[in-house]
Amino acid sequence: MPSAHLATNGPSAVHRVTEALSIKYGMDADNKQQVVSVTDRVLGTQVWYNAERGRKPQSFTEEPNLADPTDGGRTCDFCQWRTLTALDVFGRIERTHAISASNLFKYCQPFHGLVLFRHHDPLKFSLPQLSDLLQVAEEWFERASAAQPSARHPFFLWNCGPRAGASQFHGHAQVALSQIPFPGCEALTVAAERYAAALPGADYYGDLIRAHRAAGLMHEHALGDKRAWCYASLAPTKDMELVVQGASLGCPCFQLLLHTALRALIDRLGVATFNVGIFNVCCSGDRNSSAPDVGATMLAADGTGYSRPPILARIVSRGKSSSRASDYGGLEVFGKASIGNTDPYRVFAALQAQLQSL
Ligand SMILES: [Zn+2]
Repeated sequence: MPSAHLATNGPSAVHRVTEALSIKYGMDADNKQQVVSVTDRVLGTQVWYNAERGRKPQSFTEEPNLADPTDGGRTCDFCQWRTLTALDVFGRIERTHAISASNLFKYCQPFHGLVLFRHHDPLKFSLPQLSDLLQVAEEWFERASAAQPSARHPFFLWNCGPRAGASQFHGHAQVALSQIPFPGCEALTVAAERYAAALPGADYYGDLIRAHRAAGLMHEHALGDKRAWCYASLAPTKDMELVVQGASLGCPCFQLLLHTALRALIDRLGVATFNVGIFNVCCSGDRNSSAPDVGATMLAADGTGYSRPPILARIVSRGKSSSRASDYGGLEVFGKASIGNTDPYRVFAALQAQLQSL
């Protein structure tokens, strides 16, 4: 495995604090703080860790945790989805626990849809409910891309809570199929291609798994000939990033690990607002039903020989729902770096505890 694609640096940051500050915050006058940065040189992302920031005062008062603005669903459009959501031209997909709708206010063309849980509470979802959400999304991408084959750029996004960009309380994901690539998806594709070109025989997606396994941050799940992997990212784009890598939205191993990762964040780390983005989703025409499971193929071949890249679900926490302070500042907006609040090993420990409870 190439060795230098995650880089750390760590000279201590030193400063002098006044006597008043020293008393107020319990710091020595020549206070030193250990700051660690991790740079993902392949994707060009960066995160900065400093455990001392956990003591940083927050002068903005906190608000109570978000209350359901829909009176328990009684005024929720999505609970009344049959009459208060639009339909895509290729129809509505309905499963036991989830359904599709067309997004009434689109940011993407030709298709921008929604996948809704049938139930209202966005933080309470079981594995069967999440599986149906993913199955509906998978069928939506197939129908949408069949309806317009020239649109080849799918993206699955799930914003939970207003801090994460959601405008509705009811649990729902967004499914977009675009004529033009989404830059974040394109950057991943280009990075993987450049990686393989620069390092003959190397496989970017396989090395992501191997690097996180070497760091003690990776769990592999197998079910028959299917496999999926979940790791706590060494270079999270926002707090507590967990990544689930697998074959497809419909793969039971991928679904189980995505559910486990989300429940670990929600139930063990108190996450109440999050984003999920799923990359490399399959379109109609990408799929060859006679081909083996690409995720299984990838690992069985130890990183080589797969016909299309695995899907990656990236999950990040968007901070405290009660906090008035944004978790996006100038560092994120302009610097394309982020502040790592939570140690990835703590995030992984929560994942492991959740796995042991299965
Ligand atoms: Zn609802």
